Amino acid sequence: MKLASLTVGGVRHAGLVDEAEQSVTLLATTVDDVVRGGPVGARGEVLPLSGVRLESPLHRFNRDVLCTGWNYLDHFEESKGRREGQDPVSVPERPAFFTKGPDTVIGPADDIAYDPALSQKWDYEAEIALVIGRDGRSIPEEKALDHVFGFLVANDVSQRDLQRAHGGQWLKGKSLDRTMPLGPWITTTDSVDDLADLRVQCEVNGVLLQNASSAQMAFSFARIIAELSHGMTLRAGDVVLTGTPSGIGNAREPQVFLRDGDVVVTRVSGLGELRNTVTLTDLGQGGEGAEPRGER
Ligand code: MG
Repeated sequence: MKLASLTVGGVRHAGLVDEAEQSVTLLATTVDDVVRGGPVGARGEVLPLSGVRLESPLHRFNRDVLCTGWNYLDHFEESKGRREGQDPVSVPERPAFFTKGPDTVIGPADDIAYDPALSQKWDYEAEIALVIGRDGRSIPEEKALDHVFGFLVANDVSQRDLQRAHGGQWLKGKSLDRTMPLGPWITTTDSVDDLADLRVQCEVNGVLLQNASSAQMAFSFARIIAELSHGMTLRAGDVVLTGTPSGIGNAREPQVFLRDGDVVVTRVSGLGELRNTVTLTDLGQGGEGAEPRGER
């Protein structure tokens, strides 16, 4: 099952995606509810995929998006000496974790906010994301995938200079509003063909800059869940990013950073594709005009 989110007639619906037919069937529920165990319910109108605008599949966040750092060893190696004081001494024995705010989340075709007044180093990070579908704490690795509702595509767009400027951390440089594309839909775990060999790619303006397999992950999806949930409850609806492979702009020679007008395509085999345009946005304004994101 592939579950998308779209608004029709002012009402947000979950939509059942049929890629072969290039259609989406409206459901009388939301993806947020289905992920938390709600029924899929009655099927309604069938619409052509080309005629709808898909949103982020998820709108209700229990908390920050949970993220994994340095999970592809080639990415760990490429960034050596380029982290300006954030280098660990050796390859981690356990996954590195951090979080980013849910106000980062945008849909599969939305513009990525870009404000050069805030940062000069906007970078891309293609990633596989997963959504928890069953609550659990200290989940054993062998049962971890039973707690996963499904998988989707994300881009952990990061501001490298903000990571360094605020004490050498990952929160501030990864939490600017409207910078993380998510989608295009959630593919339920039983519908993913080969979790051990998903192809993760990122293209900027048609140039392939990241291209790797989930086989290169240092820590499997199951291990990430086992480690993250150790003593810490994961709940249905929690989103976990699982790390980016090599090819990020900060580690390139010369470095590549995103600019206004760049088209970023993030793709994972079997999970779909995000296509987002980097767009000049004044994030220094807003005040009380911030958009509501619903229940947090
Ligand atoms: Mg990342």
